[in-house]
Amino acid sequence: MKPLNPPERILMGPGPSSVSSRVLRALGSPTLGHLDPKYVEIMDQTCVMLRDVFQTQNALTFPVSATGMAGMECIVTNLMEPGDEAIVCVNGVFGTRMVDVMQRAGVTVHAIEVPWGETFPDEMIADAVERFPKSKALAIVHAETSTGAHQPIESVSKIVHEAGMLLVVDAVTSLGGHEVRVDDWQIDAIYSGTQKCLSCPPGLSPVSFSPAAMDAMEKRKTKVQSWYFDVSMLKAYYSGSGKRAYHHTAPVNMIYALYEALAIVLEEGLENRIERHRQVHLRLRAGLETMGISYVPKHSLHTLNCVHIPDGIDDASVRQALLENYSIEIGAGLGPFAGKAWRIGLMGHAATVANVDLLLSALKASL
Ligand SMILES: *Cc1c(COP(=O)(O)O)cnc(C)c1O
Repeated sequence: MKPLNPPERILMGPGPSSVSSRVLRALGSPTLGHLDPKYVEIMDQTCVMLRDVFQTQNALTFPVSATGMAGMECIVTNLMEPGDEAIVCVNGVFGTRMVDVMQRAGVTVHAIEVPWGETFPDEMIADAVERFPKSKALAIVHAETSTGAHQPIESVSKIVHEAGMLLVVDAVTSLGGHEVRVDDWQIDAIYSGTQKCLSCPPGLSPVSFSPAAMDAMEKRKTKVQSWYFDVSMLKAYYSGSGKRAYHHTAPVNMIYALYEALAIVLEEGLENRIERHRQVHLRLRAGLETMGISYVPKHSLHTLNCVHIPDGIDDASVRQALLENYSIEIGAGLGPFAGKAWRIGLMGHAATVANVDLLLSALKASL
């Protein structure tokens, strides 16, 4: 066997993002039994910090034991029953996946679409809830990582709730890098991932359910089709006040890593962290625009910068040069943007002035 020796990269793609040594050290702490009182305390503290980062009082807030897609699947399979209707907003890869996950759960999906790179105006949401009034929920992606589009949530939430529906939000690429106010924005079910702006290795998907979502889940007539993601069983482990029951073995060391990553977020302060992401985005944007490189979306995320590849430039050879000569990873375009766009992540630990300046000069040299 060759020795395991992964190089140290600067991860500036669509995720995972670079992980700090503090989080890596936490990962290597002694493994405890998942019912050990010491571990349960660590897990409870992790959920307390998750509520702070989600800006919510929701009792049912915990990390699902798998990556972001599992958060999507957990929310869909618990909230929706076969035969239910839902509106899904599609403007990139993750909205498209949401349609697929919903349909597999037996949901009748009303997909509404805008072109990739665009966001949904309020009028379109209002029109959709009027056309499909029997929908139980509307699902929307806050930060569409495939296009870099930043979808406003607050006004959408108002329209959705006035229509008596639940609001489901994908915040995988926004939590810890953009404002995500679960209670103020009245989000009913939200999922994220550890490896984007929280700068923890991939492997967990923080989720949160509002009291209205819990109510909807209690009124289910059918069993949740997924055993592993069934919240009615999981909640006894994560938020039970009494004895914790075994459901599945918690990914103990990953919880340590998330604990440390969340502690870092809260030490920095959410507001400071969001402002840091804004500042580095503006710096990158100014530098790219000086080089004649323009952004794809009109409303760009700070955490994911999707830019047009200049004419005559070969996508793969530039990304390869960045990786080989500078150990910097940036992301390729997806779907209609394959070969036409780059996706530059500025997430968490990697979102620094030093990294932005290094990338700009490396890119200049590589072009
Ligand atoms: C990365 C991502 C996901 C999926 O997360 P995985 O960790 O890859 O399972 C879902 N939604 C969005 C917007 C993402 O960026």
